[in-house]
Amino acid sequence: MAARSPADGAVRDRWLELATRRMTAAGLRAGAARTAVVETLAREGQCLLSAAEITSLLRPGGGGSTASVYRVLMELSDLGLLRRLDGRDGVARFEIADPEHHHHHVVDERTGEVRPFTDDDLERSIERVADRLGIELRSHEVVLRGVRREA
Ligand SMILES: [Zn+2]
Repeated sequence: MAARSPADGAVRDRWLELATRRMTAAGLRAGAARTAVVETLAREGQCLLSAAEITSLLRPGGGGSTASVYRVLMELSDLGLLRRLDGRDGVARFEIADPEHHHHHVVDERTGEVRPFTDDDLERSIERVADRLGIELRSHEVVLRGVRREA
């Protein structure tokens, strides 16, 4: 399960606006179930959540099944609104894709805990590599796996 960092209001509002725009352009209606998932993601989905976790976060009555939540997650992924990480536990986890900010993940292989991290040097290195490879970088993701060292 991902450690929850405090929700960033600016990220939330920016993503909600982007999501609304892209869903409208794609002709997706703002039905109650879809809206509930989108609002929950904006509020709680700034770092990885599984479909089951999102389902349990939906307000009572606004919800639906994990299967219907998963369908909405697929729609949003197709619109480039989510990032996805497939865990070695076979569970897909999702977080909102914020065009202006992103982070990477470190997975504790003993506990399965996933934590976000950022590193400016890493970002610069990746840009240099992309440059050397002659590609216009669209996205990238880094996952570090290991076990926590004893203090
Ligand atoms: Zn994350």
